Amino acid sequence: MNIKRNQFGMGPDVSLFTLGTMRATGSTEQMYSVVKEACLTGINHIETAPAYGKAENLLGTAMRKLNSEGVRPEGGWVITSKILPGTTVNKGKRQLQEILTTLGISKIHNLAIHGLNLEEHLNWALNGEGSKLIKWAEQERLIGQVGFSSHGSFELIKEAIDSHRFRFCSLHLHLLDQERLPLAKRALEKHLGVMAISPADKGGHLHSPSKTLISDCSPISPLELAYRFLLSQGISTLTLGASDIKDFKIAKKLINSNNPLSKSEQNALEKLNQKSKERLGNTLCGQCRECLPCPNEIPIPEILRLRNLSIGMDLQSFTKERYNLIGRAGHWWEKNNANACQSCGDCLPRCPHHLNIPELLKETHCKLVNTPRRRLWG
Ligand code: SF4
Ligand code: SF4
Repeated sequence: MNIKRNQFGMGPDVSLFTLGTMRATGSTEQMYSVVKEACLTGINHIETAPAYGKAENLLGTAMRKLNSEGVRPEGGWVITSKILPGTTVNKGKRQLQEILTTLGISKIHNLAIHGLNLEEHLNWALNGEGSKLIKWAEQERLIGQVGFSSHGSFELIKEAIDSHRFRFCSLHLHLLDQERLPLAKRALEKHLGVMAISPADKGGHLHSPSKTLISDCSPISPLELAYRFLLSQGISTLTLGASDIKDFKIAKKLINSNNPLSKSEQNALEKLNQKSKERLGNTLCGQCRECLPCPNEIPIPEILRLRNLSIGMDLQSFTKERYNLIGRAGHWWEKNNANACQSCGDCLPRCPHHLNIPELLKETHCKLVNTPRRRLWG
């Protein structure tokens, strides 16, 4: 069977799925079996990072073993690794050399700036030490092309795409969170490769969906529908953070499926949206962002999106996990939760849906915040 490959910036073409290595770090055997299964699935692109603990070490060992057994994709593996922004040129040089040695390769096809989340990160890459580091790595032919991954604001990502410095980007693009889809389209129009980060886990814990979500998406599974939605939008490749060979089941089915949505897929999407709207009634947040800015810097649309998902689609574990990460993940996620609302009312006249925002925030907080555990001592 011919396996489809998508253009990925100026680098080698990549499969519709990319193996993410952060969940296969339990042992050499686990990484070996996951990488082998990726190859058998038709995947040729692996995404890794020094920040994923033992991942690069285990991956290097697995690739060497598989090479010796003649197991590798046609044209060889395409590797994406990452470095964190903010490092000095000398430290960055050492990190790059270490990645190459650990993986046992002479060139990283795609080097991503890992977590370009703040304006200072972008400055580092475009004008600071980062730009010198990238120039050096390109001159030494240690990297093929440079991209970035970002959890940052819409404006920051747009600026990064428009800088023309990057040839690919990894973004949070999800069926259940389509806020960044226009950015992905913008990047694709500029011929950047676009990788969707974690459509299964960060896309709503779709590996363990609620009964409600399963029923709303039927006859298609929520994860398959999410993958198909992204692929039909032209996203270059979707990350698959496998920890077991069972995790490749849907990717095997969809490895060549980036055609437009079928009638039955469109119907399933319509049903999903309709059911959610019915459950939320006139409290559905339309995600238009007109309510911002809040003087207390509350990310109103993000919090009400979690409410939409919790009530509209019964995504309990996911929405609680995301809500309770607020204020605890540095620049990787929001800082203030709904508890910071002072009911000043500034946002109210700006909401075209006439939502009672302070009330909805309060309700969301009570619903999603983790109750402090009872102390067992003193
Ligand atoms: S009512 Fe609450 S959410 Fe709205 S602007 Fe005031 S503090 Fe922010
Ligand atoms: S203005 Fe209203 S509908 Fe729009 S994001 Fe804010 S709360 Fe949601």
